[in-house]
Parts: sequence; C-alpha cells; structure tokens
Amino acid sequence: MSDSDPAPSLYAAHEPIFPRRVSGPFRNLKWYIMAVTLGIYYLTPWIRWDRGPALPDQAVLLDLANRRFYFFWIEIWPHEFYFVAGLLIMAGLGLFLFTSALGRVWCGYTCPQTVWTDLFILVERWIEGDRNARLRLHRQKKLDFRKARLRVTKWVVWLLIGLATGGAWVFYFADAPTLLRDLLTGQAHPVAYTTMAILTGTTFLFGGFAREQICIYACPWPRIQAAMMDEDTLTVGYREWRGEPRGKPRKTDEPGLVHGDCIDCMACVNVCPMGIDIRDGQQMECITCALCIDACDDVMERIGKPRGLIDYMALSDEANERAGHPPQNIWKHILRPRTILYTALWGSVGLALLFALFIRSDIELTVAPVRNPTFVTLSDGSIRNTYDVRLRNKTGEPRPFELSIKGEPAMQLELEGVDGTIVTVPADTSFLQRVYIVAPKTAEAASARSTPVRIWVADLDNGERAYKDTSFNGRGAGQ
Ligand code: SF4
Ligand code: SF4
Repeated sequence: MSDSDPAPSLYAAHEPIFPRRVSGPFRNLKWYIMAVTLGIYYLTPWIRWDRGPALPDQAVLLDLANRRFYFFWIEIWPHEFYFVAGLLIMAGLGLFLFTSALGRVWCGYTCPQTVWTDLFILVERWIEGDRNARLRLHRQKKLDFRKARLRVTKWVVWLLIGLATGGAWVFYFADAPTLLRDLLTGQAHPVAYTTMAILTGTTFLFGGFAREQICIYACPWPRIQAAMMDEDTLTVGYREWRGEPRGKPRKTDEPGLVHGDCIDCMACVNVCPMGIDIRDGQQMECITCALCIDACDDVMERIGKPRGLIDYMALSDEANERAGHPPQNIWKHILRPRTILYTALWGSVGLALLFALFIRSDIELTVAPVRNPTFVTLSDGSIRNTYDVRLRNKTGEPRPFELSIKGEPAMQLELEGVDGTIVTVPADTSFLQRVYIVAPKTAEAASARSTPVRIWVADLDNGERAYKDTSFNGRGAGQ
C-alpha cells in the first residue's frame, strides 16, 4: 500500500440477515418455548388472586406506591427484600448451571431478545415471504406500491407487538383492568404512557432492526459465558472430520478425491439467525439455537447420510470421534463437578428461601428505644423509658394486637394514646406505637444501669406471637 492510498476503513456496513424457514425438533422446541414465555409475560398481570377486601386481587403485582410485591399467596414487604435477592441469586446460579452444561441455551431459547426477534422474523416471513422473497424485496431499489404495502404492514404489526409488550409491562405495576381502562380513556398517569412509549420503541427497534447486533455488540453475556464453559460443555458444532472435503462430486474433481458428507448446500448458513457459518468452528456470535442442526439433519436425510453432521457435541469428544470411537454418554458431560457444585448451590439457596418462607410470621415488630433522654424520673420516683414500637400486620384484615413485657414483675407497660395494652392494627399495615415502660422507685431495674426487657406482641384473633429484646435504663445509666 503506497502513502497515497486511502487508509482501509474499519467500518463495515451492516448487512441484514434473512433467515430461511426451517423445521425440526429444535425449531419445534423454540416455538414451544416462545409460546410459553410470551404467554406468561402477556397474561400474568390478568390472573386474579383473592386476598380479601383490603388487598389487591392481582396475582403478580409490584405495588411501588405501597412498597409491596405480591406473588400469588406470597406478599413481600420492603424489609423482606432478601427473598427477591435470593431469587436473583438462584436465577444467576441457574444461568451458570445451564451455560456450563449446555452452552448458550439461555441465549438460544429463552432470552427476551431472542424470543421477540424470533416473533418479529415470523411476522416478517408471513408478510414478505421466506428468505429468497425477502432478499429480493430488500435488493429492490425502487419503492413501488407492493414494497411500500409490505413494509408498512410489517412495521404496523411490529409496532402493535411492541405496544402490547410495553402495555403488558406497566400492567405489572398497577391493577391491570383499571389501568387498561385509564389508558384507553386518557386518564392514566403520564409515567405509564411514557414507559409504554419507550418499551414500544425499544421492542420495535431491537426485535425488528437491531436483532443479532444486540447479541453481538451490546450484550455482555457472550463475553462472560466463556468462563463457565469447558471442554465438556455441550454446544453446537460441525463434525468437520466427517464433512470435509465439502461439496458435491463433479467431473472436474481431481482423480481419487473422496468428498465428505457436507454437500455445501448452505442450508445451515441460510437458517442461522446470526448469519454465521458453523462450519468455520465455534464463534462468539453463535447463540446455540440449534436451527442449523435441524437444517443439516434434513439435508442428510434427503441424501441418505446419517444425521448429526452438525450436532450438540463436546470438545472432549472430538479426539475420540476422529479416532472412530463413539462420543461419551451425554450424562457424563452434564454430570461433572462444576455442574454438581452449581446445582448444590442453587438447591441450597432455594431450600433456605423455602425455609425462610415457611417460618415467616404474619405479625412482626421492631423496637427502637428513645434515648434522649436516657430515662425520665417521674414525680413518685419511678423510672420511665420510652420506645417506638413498629407493629406489622401482614394479613388482609385489621387485627387486635396485645402488647406485654417480660422483665422484672413490677415493671409496667403503657401505650401512648391507648387505654390498656391492646391496639388495633389496620390490614396490611405497618403501625408505629409509642410505648412506655415504667419501673417503680424500689424496683431493681429503677436503680440498675441496664436491665434486659422483652416486648411481646400477640395477635388476639389467632394467638400468633412475636417478640423483640431491648433494654431498660435505670438511674445507674445517668442522664
Ligand atoms: S450457527 Fe447454528 S446454533 Fe449457532 S446461531 Fe447459527 S443456527 Fe444457531
Ligand atoms: S447444511 Fe449440512 S450439508 Fe448443507 S452446507 Fe451445512 S453442513 Fe453442509
């Protein structure tokens, strides 16, 4: 290259990919997973769940205004966020487990980007035709009536899917039927419209246009997953020792040339949503969707060769297979120390969450001693300490809670603004009650520096009880 030559461009224009239709067991599995995941996403906000008159009847609801998360019979309060953290840890460990066993199955089958892109490609195929028809339309420079009609129809359907996607998202944050009515009558909160508009736009762009570029350039997961894979991980690969030299026998072939099983029909490349050729070896772009397996198996059947030229396989089997031995049993690849460790961790977190859920009580209290002043000396010489007690009634109805103490018998408990020791806490509420504990002048606690005290709360309706330990300051504590 001479000095006068222009520097080569580092930019390559994006070439859209038009995957061909394919059928086979992996494609069917992807259809099934798409139907289930989209069904769950779109329909869940409409499932009703009766929790009583005081609580929302939506099965899954993120009630940000009241700081509650409802999931069927479970209600998570803000201080129980560890349940959500535990579920996120389980999701992460599950991802590690599946990646180490089966490569990028998350990317290939269940990632929202994959699922919505698959849906958008399906719509595109219905409207514009299969790969060759779409390629012709793409290469047609002139925008005639037919091209405009097909393009507009496709974009309108994509936008409707985007709208349904954004709409379904906001329904998780408010009562779905009420919010739908408000959205249609223009009375919903601007945040709902804004969120829907953003999600409609991103779904339209990511599923319709960005597609594989999100996986290749924007998502960090392809870079991270390599750390979880090893030579025993099952991933999509090409049996190059069986397929090469590729091509159909021709008269022009060198004498004695024996072709491999690959007839170089390009079916595996044409169905690939990432636009790659798996025969070039493992590539970061491959999401292991296995559509190339379906395409190649179909070709192999038609030419009377064994299936599996492209297959789920492990690197550790390659040497065996090259030597003519069969691959190891699939369970030997899946059950190995790394996957067993991930399963054990995943199960431990799950069991811990189940245990925490099982021992969870419908009533709770927290006690905050008021230490300014440390104590008060009353006119008769008795000593009084003040506490702010937060009572939580997690049930769907008001409950009478009785407060009591366990300490020196002479000590008395009094509630500010309440006659007696019973307070009614409204349904699904956290209620702050100021509490006084008084020790008579002659009691030991009145002269001691600090005496341990236990504050009890009992639900008079069902007898459930809870307590918190605190301390009582006497004259020994000074002021
Ligand atoms: S190479 Fe095969 S498995 Fe990988 S993305 Fe393409 S079609 Fe899917
Ligand atoms: S589909 Fe199979 S036979 Fe056709 S090019 Fe791909 S690997 Fe070769």
